[in-house]
Amino acid sequence: MFKKINSNDKELIEVARDVLQKRYRPVRHTVAAAVLCDSGRIYTGINIEACGYGPCAEPIAIGSAFTNGDWNIRTIVAVCKKDDRYPVLSPCGNCRQLIFDYAPDAMVIFDNNGKIMKTEARNLLPGHYNSEFGNT
Ligand SMILES: [Zn+2]
Repeated sequence: MFKKINSNDKELIEVARDVLQKRYRPVRHTVAAAVLCDSGRIYTGINIEACGYGPCAEPIAIGSAFTNGDWNIRTIVAVCKKDDRYPVLSPCGNCRQLIFDYAPDAMVIFDNNGKIMKTEARNLLPGHYNSEFGNT
């Protein structure tokens, strides 16, 4: 279910790291995400912290892809900053639901107890909320 990352995944991680190195601001912007779409284009985003809440980096990056008409997400990753390193950050529960809703087959690169792996979004949210039932 969990797979090893490949060179393309490592490149996507580097894109996210480059963004965070440029845009990092303590408290305000501490996470960056990169999204690879089926078109081959990559979109990025940073989190926007405000009063202890605010959008994560993943929805910002996904929103950027959608804004540009790129609807098919192939792979997504987020990174944070820890001292001088930019480790991969696993998506929070809200983002897991978001990624699942829009791209259940997209690969999510995540930290599996210190090992960087990837898996389809559906595998990161067993027993997920089904919005179809919520709309009845
Ligand atoms: Zn999140």
